[in-house]
Amino acid sequence: KWKLQVQDLTVRYTAKGKSTTALEHVNMAVKDGEFVSVVGPSGCGKSTLLKVASGLLKPAGGQALLDGKPIEGVTGEVGMVFQNDALLPWKTVYDNVRLPLEIKGLSKSDQAAEVRRLLKMVGLHEFEHFYPKQLSGGMKKRVALARTFAYDPGLYLMDEPFGPLDAQTRVKIGEEFLKIWEQVGKSVLFITHDIEEAISLSDRVIVMTNRPGKIKAEFDVTLERP
Ligand code: ADP
Ligand code: ADP
Repeated sequence: KWKLQVQDLTVRYTAKGKSTTALEHVNMAVKDGEFVSVVGPSGCGKSTLLKVASGLLKPAGGQALLDGKPIEGVTGEVGMVFQNDALLPWKTVYDNVRLPLEIKGLSKSDQAAEVRRLLKMVGLHEFEHFYPKQLSGGMKKRVALARTFAYDPGLYLMDEPFGPLDAQTRVKIGEEFLKIWEQVGKSVLFITHDIEEAISLSDRVIVMTNRPGKIKAEFDVTLERP
């Protein structure tokens, strides 16, 4: 069963009268519960692919389907994680994670229980009263992940989520994310320029090339999971 299907996608940008073809005839898909990475050089259209998959960008040709339905009509089903964590600086760790739960309409006591469960999951239960600026890069990233898990989307779209972290923290957080992901079992489309990261985290790796952005290769790297 397919979670996300991208069919014959072509995207062009026009800037200062000059047109760039960012993606040309791209076909790819993510199965229910599958973790797919997209790797490729800067400018090959990875972010553009993610924008179409989230419904933020309307393509010149082709389409993206979520659960078989055109993505434009679907709301609240896709969760994005960016390089920039976009935590609310005036809110505590607790409230940053709680906000999606309030929006979902959970009762105050259910919100509290769920926030504590999520913060425990990312190892930050002792930091709920801290503000983002009091946390390290890796800790902020964990808060952002907890917030996305709170939102509980059917599809996680992640654009270089661990990009700004130092190499060591990056590997550690990647492993932590993988452990949590194995529990929630949702579909992930994960963008990175780091092939090692892609291989260690995903079930499948899609390789793109530049000018115009196209898929060049695709390989299965599924690990035996418990
Ligand atoms: P990647 O994420 O792989 O680095 P992008 O999807 O950001 O690639 O960009 C793909 C191509 O489209 C690049 O050539 C880039 O310069 C161009 N591009 C991206 N966004 C815009 C935009 N808003 N206006 C014009 N060109 C753009
Ligand atoms: P980075 O600064 O590279 O992002 P980390 O996010 O792993 O690294 O954390 C930096 C420091 O913050 C750690 O050395 C530790 O002292 C503290 N820290 C991080 N997570 C926790 C935690 N769950 N409990 C206690 N201290 C923590």
